[in-house]
Amino acid sequence: MASIDNYNFAGKKAIVRVDFNVPLNEDGTISDDTRIRGALPTLKKILADGGSLILMSHMGKPKGKVNPKLSLEQIRDAVAKALGADVKFVPDCMKASEAAKDLKPGEVLLLENLRFYPEEEGKPVGIDKNDPAYEQAKKEMKERQKEFAKTLASYADVYVNDAFGTAHRKHASTAVIADYFDQQDKMLGYLMEKEVNAVDAILKDIKRPFTAIMGGSKVSTKIGIIENLMDKVDNLILCGGMTYTFAKAQGGKIGDSICEDDKLDLALDIIAKAKEKGVNLVLGTDCVAADAFSNDANTQVCPANAIPDGWQGLDAGPDSILEFRKAILPAKTILWNGPAGVFEMEKFTTGSRAIAEAIAAATADGAFSLVGGGDSVACVNKFGLADDVSYVSTGGGALLEAIEGKTLPGIAAIKGE
Ligand code: AMP
Repeated sequence: MASIDNYNFAGKKAIVRVDFNVPLNEDGTISDDTRIRGALPTLKKILADGGSLILMSHMGKPKGKVNPKLSLEQIRDAVAKALGADVKFVPDCMKASEAAKDLKPGEVLLLENLRFYPEEEGKPVGIDKNDPAYEQAKKEMKERQKEFAKTLASYADVYVNDAFGTAHRKHASTAVIADYFDQQDKMLGYLMEKEVNAVDAILKDIKRPFTAIMGGSKVSTKIGIIENLMDKVDNLILCGGMTYTFAKAQGGKIGDSICEDDKLDLALDIIAKAKEKGVNLVLGTDCVAADAFSNDANTQVCPANAIPDGWQGLDAGPDSILEFRKAILPAKTILWNGPAGVFEMEKFTTGSRAIAEAIAAATADGAFSLVGGGDSVACVNKFGLADDVSYVSTGGGALLEAIEGKTLPGIAAIKGE
């Protein structure tokens, strides 16, 4: 596979799929430029080689229509400043042939939001999924998507995908476009390479013991990952709101705690599977229960399977935290996805903070730790520990699908799979 390090971009026009889907303030200024900064190593390497850049991205969900509030022109100056180069803007991504032709080494072109065209996502618009004509409309849209991707490809000599956040989508700019480049002229950018390597460290190059910590509100959204990890981990900590589905499934009393009543059998199944596979399943034994879902609620520590009526478990208790630490501190590979409590409220941050601190300590001791998924990333940021873990993933859905063991279309397209 071609790689960005081994490729000489001198005199080449590179079309790069970046993730410039940055959050904007009401006045159109950028509130967090992490994603722009994340793309810089790739973009700077191409320019330093003597190549030129055609940058393409989506922003928000314009649903195939032009929406000035989601125009990428708003971020043009920020991109120029970050790159230290002028950035030309093309207000219609399908009409960039001339501008691309005129591009000289070291120059940068930014295309308008790809999702102003429905072809980018390739989903038919204005027709219901149950409409008998839907399948035909979908087929036609797929053909139009190919033409759209072909036009984008015609602007450049080489294609680089550095947008991990959309790697789980088979869109024109993330996957279909790759068909129009030779194998030696398409590659992953640095950010993508880092994400892929981090996932490989978790799924392939595992150093033992391997501890995974899955939290958050629901079992149902995490079941694919839990099942895939069951074959790989030594310790599996299940915490957060999931605790109470497991407690109830085993006959516990959980008061008003969050619970998925239709997943009780699934919870018992997970417990049985862990036993069968020799995985040390760590479930919270106690919790901080509150008499309301509020930061002002009264609280008490009680067993997770004996919560009084009218109370709900909103954080891990001290005994659970001790057990979590025991499974995290000696680990050499760690994955964390999902908080151990309602960390958005100050009163219920203790469990998540303890997990973050234990991961930081294990990392200082030589473990590889990957933190991913919006809420756990928010936790390490909130606790000021983002620099004390090995890798904080930028991808939400893409990371979770990768950990589930699914092949991401954006990566498969580059590898020619
Ligand atoms: P998820 O989107 O499934 O990863 O869940 C993240 C959310 O789970 C966060 O907003 C937390 O506030 C919430 N959460 C964690 N623990 C609990 C709990 N014990 N009860 C209710 N919500 C929880």
